Amino acid sequence: MEEREALLDRVSSSDGTGVKDPATGAVIGRVSFGTPGDVAAAVDTAVAAQPGWAALSDEERCAALMRAADAIEAHAEELAYVLSREQGKTMDGLGARFEAAGCAIWVRTAASTPLPVEVLIDEPASHAELRYRPVGVVGVITPWNWPMIIACWQIVSALRMGNTVVQKPSEHTTLSGLAIVEVMNEALPPGVLTAVTGAGDVGDALVRDRRVGKVMFTGSVKTGMKVVEASAGNLSRLTLELGGNDAGIVLPDADPQAIAEGVFWGAFINSGQTCNALKRLYLPDAIYDEVVDAVAGIAAKVPMGIGLDEGNALGPLQNQMQWNVVNRLVEDAKARGARVVMGGDPDAGAPGHFYPKTLIADIDNSAPLVQEEQFGPALPIIRYTGLEQAVEWANGVDFGLGASVWSADREAALAIAVRLQAGTVWINSHGGVDPRIPFGGAKHSGYGLEFGVEGLKAVSVPQVISG
Ligand code: NAD
Repeated sequence: MEEREALLDRVSSSDGTGVKDPATGAVIGRVSFGTPGDVAAAVDTAVAAQPGWAALSDEERCAALMRAADAIEAHAEELAYVLSREQGKTMDGLGARFEAAGCAIWVRTAASTPLPVEVLIDEPASHAELRYRPVGVVGVITPWNWPMIIACWQIVSALRMGNTVVQKPSEHTTLSGLAIVEVMNEALPPGVLTAVTGAGDVGDALVRDRRVGKVMFTGSVKTGMKVVEASAGNLSRLTLELGGNDAGIVLPDADPQAIAEGVFWGAFINSGQTCNALKRLYLPDAIYDEVVDAVAGIAAKVPMGIGLDEGNALGPLQNQMQWNVVNRLVEDAKARGARVVMGGDPDAGAPGHFYPKTLIADIDNSAPLVQEEQFGPALPIIRYTGLEQAVEWANGVDFGLGASVWSADREAALAIAVRLQAGTVWINSHGGVDPRIPFGGAKHSGYGLEFGVEGLKAVSVPQVISG
């Protein structure tokens, strides 16, 4: 066994369901899935550990989290290996090593973000201040696309604020979820961070447990709506990070060569399996062909293949279900007469869930590939004539996670950016997140914020001390 395989071996169970490498179909480990009945025991553990964890000073909790970041760094290659084998992403580029390194960065930043008491009024006759108390137990439910870093985002802010956490990874990437929890637990006191495995019924049980005061949910809009319903009986606090269908609007003054690489990676990062990827590209008549050619030129040079093969920059889709979604949307676009600039011709008989890099031009804005979230490496490119039309189309979906505007003139881009119904609008880039900058969706992409001081406040209960 290679040294970097040790963690995968540790989190894999001796029996249970075989976990397949999405690139090859090889069985890489086993998962013994939990049931809704296992949730109560995990929450018992979290409840028992919470008072002791909350009684530590903020400095002591942050020091423990910094040690957890050290552990992540010490095991970074092993974590990346688990990710690459189970999620499919490449070791290189914006892939598995990038995600593992990001975990440590997020943990360190959340553990060093100041959250001072806010003095609201300080007058001779009146004093009022705002403090933030722990909620208690926080449930963290995560998806399969960035299975370690999304878990870290939510775990670290919840722990920092004195909560304990029960984490349920996606059933598609259980080993990745278990691996990050295992590594962080090398540095954390027993019981403050517990994982439960299983599918939607286990997530549902976690949301329904009356002792879970806050649920951080990241996943699809459909499941997010179920989480809202399931939480009603407990009035649990919720942060919902849901799906996206981000528009990118290119203004006529943009330089096609200058923007092509940013547009490509904004759309194709993690083979498109990214909530805030660029999922619809709106190009003006004036530079339509130039931008399509420039993006296709970049795409042609990016190698897609098995994640473990160094040098590959894009991997397969994680599962057959998602492959079917992408294939259906592209086939529909072709049947409508849209133009395939590249890709769109998967080898359905090949091992793994590879879908080729696909650019679909001259597509109508009403096509399902534009209106639905494809969550894969197939980008629809829509032609617009007037900017008002582009803004209307960009805002014309229920999603509102991110958007981008591309222009040589920042003021012109800004004038459009503020009109877009999205939680984040990037100018001349797409999808970058930063642990210091709040991130969250508008409309059906969810509510609540992560990261920065806002992210810490989101996993606590505000308390006013007056007098
Ligand atoms: P999903 O909704 O199918 O599953 C997400 C998680 O919810 C999984 O752990 C799943 O087991 C669990 N779950 C399923 N049913 C449940 C229920 N009834 N109650 C509680 N939990 C339940 O989503 P997915 O397919 O894993 O992830 C892809 C989606 O996630 C995409 O739409 C993507 O855009 C979105 N996403 C959003 C963000 C963001 O920050 N906004 C980040 C990543 C992914």
